[in-house]
Amino acid sequence: MDAAFFCAALAVLVLGGWLTPRWRLRRALARPLAPGQLAIIERNVGQYRGMGPERRVELQHLVKHFLHHKTFVGCGGLEVTEEMRVTIAAQACLLLLGRPSKVYPGLHAVLVYPGAFLAPRNEVDAAGVVTATRQDLLGESWGDGRVILSWEHVRRAGNPAEGTHNVVLHEFAHQLDSESGSTNGAPFLGSAERYRSWSATLARDFALLRRDTAWGYRDVLDPYGATNPAEFFAVATETFFELPHALAARHPALYAEFQAYFRVDPREWLDAPPVQEPEPWGAVHGQWQ
Ligand SMILES: [Zn+2]
Repeated sequence: MDAAFFCAALAVLVLGGWLTPRWRLRRALARPLAPGQLAIIERNVGQYRGMGPERRVELQHLVKHFLHHKTFVGCGGLEVTEEMRVTIAAQACLLLLGRPSKVYPGLHAVLVYPGAFLAPRNEVDAAGVVTATRQDLLGESWGDGRVILSWEHVRRAGNPAEGTHNVVLHEFAHQLDSESGSTNGAPFLGSAERYRSWSATLARDFALLRRDTAWGYRDVLDPYGATNPAEFFAVATETFFELPHALAARHPALYAEFQAYFRVDPREWLDAPPVQEPEPWGAVHGQWQ
């Protein structure tokens, strides 16, 4: 083979292999979302409906990144549709607006079940005996790059009439939390001063929620947040984006910490709901981890 031809062919292969992923990403980002995809976001993400044009474009850009990089896997016989992909991507990317972070760099795959799914668990009793059980879950976040979701409950989160729990926000909050190296309720914050302020505020409000939960008082934060600091962060993240007015009124210092971390104020996107009686105690719609 002619040496010049061989070198040229090698260069094409090497450069082509190196450039292709970047070229594909550039091409994906340059293309606007299809009208059908925009309609899905409009329909299933209430916060998007209240955003101004610049925020909308920012979210669309993040969604394109997410759809380009993440793999969706249907489980339990589910066939993943465009509605599922776009809804999950758009809700997950709400947490990234205004922040310099990348689009969940540690996450590779989103597994979607039709409804609540059974996950294996080991329960340890007081005597230290371990029993293998199975637990019904609506969502689960893993440190190995997977998030698992029940589509039935993702779909419900897009409809305010069906409650204000949001399993996507919850599980992706765990993903952000784990970016700091451990899932403990403190995501990566940068300076020691920020960690001190975060820790003092969240520890106080976590203790408040535990006390209220133990006494049977309702808080704007779901009682599941009293489980541990990691669940408190995930539940508070849901509430920050779904019930921002109520959270700011009940937990102003916590709201300010979340505003500083997420760099958005969801009160700008959602109207303050009319004052109404809280749900009856115990009306928790299931469990997630
Ligand atoms: Zn959780």
